[in-house]
Amino acid sequence: MIRRGRGLLQLPGPTNIPERVLRAMHRPAVDFGTAEFARLLDGCLADLATIAGTRGRVFVYAALGHGAWEAALVNLVGPNEAVLVPDTGRFARGWAEMAGALGIGVREVPTDPRRPLDPARLEEVLRADRGHAIRAVLLCHVETSTGVRHDPRAVRAALDRAGHPALLVVDAIASFAAESLAMDAWGIDCLLAASQKGLMLPPGLAFVFAGPRALEAAGRCPRPRKYWDWRGRDGVESYEKFYGTPPTQMIFGLREALDMLREEGMDAVFARHARLARAVRAAVARWAEAGALFFHCLEPEARADTVTAVGFADGVEPERIRTRAREGFGVAFGGGIGPFRGRLLRIGHMGDLDEAMVLGALGVLELVLRLEGVPHAPGGVEAAIAALAAR
Ligand SMILES: *Cc1c(COP(=O)(O)O)cnc(C)c1O
Repeated sequence: MIRRGRGLLQLPGPTNIPERVLRAMHRPAVDFGTAEFARLLDGCLADLATIAGTRGRVFVYAALGHGAWEAALVNLVGPNEAVLVPDTGRFARGWAEMAGALGIGVREVPTDPRRPLDPARLEEVLRADRGHAIRAVLLCHVETSTGVRHDPRAVRAALDRAGHPALLVVDAIASFAAESLAMDAWGIDCLLAASQKGLMLPPGLAFVFAGPRALEAAGRCPRPRKYWDWRGRDGVESYEKFYGTPPTQMIFGLREALDMLREEGMDAVFARHARLARAVRAAVARWAEAGALFFHCLEPEARADTVTAVGFADGVEPERIRTRAREGFGVAFGGGIGPFRGRLLRIGHMGDLDEAMVLGALGVLELVLRLEGVPHAPGGVEAAIAALAAR
């Protein structure tokens, strides 16, 4: 394959790393034991808390999102206690499996994978748990495998209506710094994020935000733990905050990414994601008129602003479309994962993206639909342009 041009990464993670961030990371090793470096890290953590909308604690790990999952579980839930997990897709299921592997009882609540979860069903299960064995509800805000956004406020309301004390723990890995989120105001006790999605960094940093109820539960949690333990991460030195050598280059990159977000303004960042998502959805809606492809998420209001999952009629193979876009035209789209392997195409639209990139990616997708003979109403790109011109 001959590579020319820049190529486009339209994955729901990892996302594009801006040149500014790459340059900020390109430096020699530093002595992390200085007051200056401690200040740099503290400033980053404070800014992250602001984006999360919390006055709670921020714990930072040299880890993937999967690390954030484990950090939340081992600090909050003891062996032989239980969690409640709405089975929204591949990520919710993966988190539930991890809980099971840690000896935690898992109550999965089936959900329609094409719609936001039904809080009434959760409420029923919570009401039935009279002994309060359920310590936490684990929710994926944006379930990246389906492109469906699930509202943490609806889960909070179900917990309150049921009078159940379980913690609300939210995986915001695919929404953080891309869709608006207010941890404290929404009654979220613990929130998770990772570096390689809305934060525009390489994979490798995971963040866990803990409110007062979560901190209190962690203090009482009987589970043996060490690397992930919040109590061991209380020091003022960056070495203590990381429980080991801080990944210094990642912190320089994080500082730069946070500066970029601050310069744009978080409201403008969220508005940009919403606007680019509208353009993507306008194109998909147009193509879908011919009946061979459709929005996986059936409720327009619940379609995430960070990823759009597209389903296909029988006989159309999304993997062929994906391969042709990537190998023929240098545009990488996401595929189906978990139960949707081979059945979905996922268009990522989060992080460092602008109109030109999104229109380019949609143009290539329309070209590939044509080349592969997938029935579609032409004019998807035109519809996207109209959506962008409308505001
Ligand atoms: C990407 C993602 C993860 C996993 O993150 P890793 O860094 O790959 O471990 C978990 N949850 C959601 C919702 C995600 O989008």
